[in-house]
Amino acid sequence: MSRSLAERSVKRVAIVSVHGCPIARLGSKDTGGMNVYVRQVAQELSGRGIYVDIYTRDHEPDDQQVVVLGDRARVIHVKAGDHSRQKEDLPACLPEFVHGLLDYTRQHGLSYDVIHSHYWLSGRVGVVLARHWRAPHIVTFHTLAEVKLRARAGEREPDVRAAGERKVIASADRIVAFSEHEREAITRLYNTVGDNIEAIPCGVDVERFRPIDGDQAKRDLGLQGSKVVLYVGRIEPLKGIDILLKAVAQLEQPESVKTLIVGGDSGSDGEMERLKTLTAELGISSQVCFVGRVEQQELPAYYSAADVCVVPSYYESFGLVALESMACGTPVVASRVGGLPTIVKDGVTGYLVPWRCPEPFADRLEVLLGSPVINRSMGEAARSRALTMGWSAVADRLLSLYGSLLTTTSEPSDVRSA
Ligand code: UDP
Repeated sequence: MSRSLAERSVKRVAIVSVHGCPIARLGSKDTGGMNVYVRQVAQELSGRGIYVDIYTRDHEPDDQQVVVLGDRARVIHVKAGDHSRQKEDLPACLPEFVHGLLDYTRQHGLSYDVIHSHYWLSGRVGVVLARHWRAPHIVTFHTLAEVKLRARAGEREPDVRAAGERKVIASADRIVAFSEHEREAITRLYNTVGDNIEAIPCGVDVERFRPIDGDQAKRDLGLQGSKVVLYVGRIEPLKGIDILLKAVAQLEQPESVKTLIVGGDSGSDGEMERLKTLTAELGISSQVCFVGRVEQQELPAYYSAADVCVVPSYYESFGLVALESMACGTPVVASRVGGLPTIVKDGVTGYLVPWRCPEPFADRLEVLLGSPVINRSMGEAARSRALTMGWSAVADRLLSLYGSLLTTTSEPSDVRSA
């Protein structure tokens, strides 16, 4: 018997983001697009009168239990292991997290119309909550073990991850993928029919990310007179920063180009040191600046100072950085992987490179650094395209998905297996 819920609308949403705290500082090893996504979606929904609670792990000694994000959006920190625990340790901490979360909701008499979880760890939590609250569960994976594995042969993800993802895929009411490519990859690699997967791209804050005069931005950053190539993001092997460095070393006049690598903490893991060693070996140390992480509100100056932003990833489920750069009117050279082709239009807003090697990146960089006319027209097209991809459109799609689950759920989600 179908529950007659046609009259119900979404009023309260629980977002579960165990390791992706929306107020954590961005750009370090485990903070990036997912944190941004959770925060932006919560704020958009709150702006539409919906109450949103984001449950995330208590990860800093001075974390307040409840942090207000907007009129109706809050971050609620829940204990799950010591603060020193790394992401790899978190599967063992999930029971404590679920327990703490349910205690909090009981104490405060909270209930939710839908649960939206982020990343497989949260997906495991979402499965339990859906059963407990008899509410629909939506999951967004952001990255998946099997997809990552194929993008970079030789790197391993713990077996518990892929197994956990399979369980979440089998149980969730809906999976939100960021592109048709991701939808197809989940269907193929996880051997599922795919009728519960919906592709909804990410968005960009077009108010924050807007063009600033490029010459002024260069002066402000002490880069006047140089052509500027920019990378922004977490510092990890999957991001392919080594490809960018090798491409820069192949430019015809590398000495006239400054390359900025924004993101990461020096010394936090081996990748930063590996990249600095590579830079020295390539003989381009004086042209490359490892800036470290930058507050997001400062990034428009970097994107605007740049002549080109490069996203050389081996895999990218979406690639917010590409869209942020475009919103600032700076063309992008990106790998043709994952969600990037849904953002960058090859030959229009930048270039997509189908090979994971430096030469074609160097080739496209030469075009965009050497031709101000092409650069300007692609930059304008990039901004126009980004304007069609604001967070408001994402919230519209999510709300309609949430609503459809309230009106069409024919049986409580606890009959599905966890
Ligand atoms: N970011 C930031 N400061 C930094 C580096 C990155 O604020 O120093 C932000 C950037 O603006 C973007 C996010 O981190 O919103 C990275 O998202 P993306 O989807 O490109 O990569 P992911 O982290 O999901 O792999």
